[in-house]
Amino acid sequence: MGVVVQKYGGTSVGSVERIQNVAERIQKTLNEGHQCVVVVSAMGKQTDELISLAKQISPHPPAREMDMLLTTGEQITIALLTMALQAKGIKARSFTGWQAGVNTNSIHGKASVTHVESVRLQQSLSNGEVAVVAGFQGVSIDGEITTLGRGGSDTTAVTLAAALQADYCEINTDVSGVFTADPRVVAQATKMDEISFEEMLELARLGAGVLHPRSVECALMHRVPLVVRSSFVDEPGTWLKEASQMEQTLSARGVAHDSDVARVKILGLPNQPESLPHVFSLLADEHINVDMIVQSEHDQDLIDVAFSLEESDGENAKRLLKSLQSKLAIKKVLYEDELAKVSVVGVGMMTRPGVAAKMFTTLSQAGIRIKMVSTSEIKISCLIDRAQTKEAVQLLHTAFELDAKQPASV
Ligand code: ADP
Ligand code: ASP
Ligand code: MG
Repeated sequence: MGVVVQKYGGTSVGSVERIQNVAERIQKTLNEGHQCVVVVSAMGKQTDELISLAKQISPHPPAREMDMLLTTGEQITIALLTMALQAKGIKARSFTGWQAGVNTNSIHGKASVTHVESVRLQQSLSNGEVAVVAGFQGVSIDGEITTLGRGGSDTTAVTLAAALQADYCEINTDVSGVFTADPRVVAQATKMDEISFEEMLELARLGAGVLHPRSVECALMHRVPLVVRSSFVDEPGTWLKEASQMEQTLSARGVAHDSDVARVKILGLPNQPESLPHVFSLLADEHINVDMIVQSEHDQDLIDVAFSLEESDGENAKRLLKSLQSKLAIKKVLYEDELAKVSVVGVGMMTRPGVAAKMFTTLSQAGIRIKMVSTSEIKISCLIDRAQTKEAVQLLHTAFELDAKQPASV
């Protein structure tokens, strides 16, 4: 049998007992005859705690030093898990991201994996060891330590699985698979046995935190068999599949929400061809992702533009736009936070009309104001007030007939 890459998230390695439980699961996998590469996250909420420490020192800590700080979390887990395996008589060796050959671009805090040099991991496997790798981190071409963005350990696992041509990659987490909505928000969410890569990619990009979006992209691109399952109970989990292998009977497969959303409105921007490129290039140069965009013509000379972005990028965006305001003679820049995006996703909606109508009706009947809308062939997203997120997700889940008969056991 070949290589299996297993990833264990923060909750799954949140204490010494849980690390020992993970060591037992690895032992079981070895006993089945597999070679094992294991990717781990920082213990419990340690990444959040490190961020909070940094913020006590500086409200906007430099991205390079943040990466230096945050990567220590995963480094603790690799050492402890390797000790736990060795204590059971299992040969094991820990690797930081750079030791494992995870090469990235140079964008601190949001780096992408460019390639994996897997020689050391292959040597370790040939020596009969379990290779235990720190997730979420890599090294840039200038030898700088980088991180892949929150939740990025999933992506480490899939890129290693692709590089090692693993039989499959297993994402072990604190829920029993991928559900039709976050089971902590919708008690009636249904666990799916399988989901298409395309639908999972949309759900992940739209806020379903169970998988890091780039991990799904990478699995799709390199054809890595991928499964999400619980690290606490022995259940089959959810397999990602090609859409063509699945029967499409539903207009909606799932509901996702993202609570880290803000909106910027630029009022009275000169109606000239260079205005929009100027604004959006400035944001792109600072690696600020802009999501929904609406433009309307004010009169012949002026336009208004509104766009949504991650609230965590809000301060930076405000600062950049202020610097541009007098230069471009912009009349007003307005900023609104405490927003959220709710989305309905399903490849079945390509062939079924009425999905937008149902979504808008459901939200408006509950008095939930829609501030912006965006669509693609397989999703519709609405921007709403953050305080109404839970209600909106629950109502949409029911309206699109996704409710399970029994409350979800996560
Ligand atoms: P880990 O630390 O293991 O990486 P995460 O917290 O990143 O775990 O991801 C698991 C969490 O994702 C679950 O606890 C759940 O609340 C959340 N989640 C959001 N959307 C979904 C979904 N559609 N299906 C399953 N879990 C989801
Ligand atoms: N520890 C990192 C985070 O909390 C990476 C991960 O868990 O995947 O975001
Ligand atoms: Mg995660």
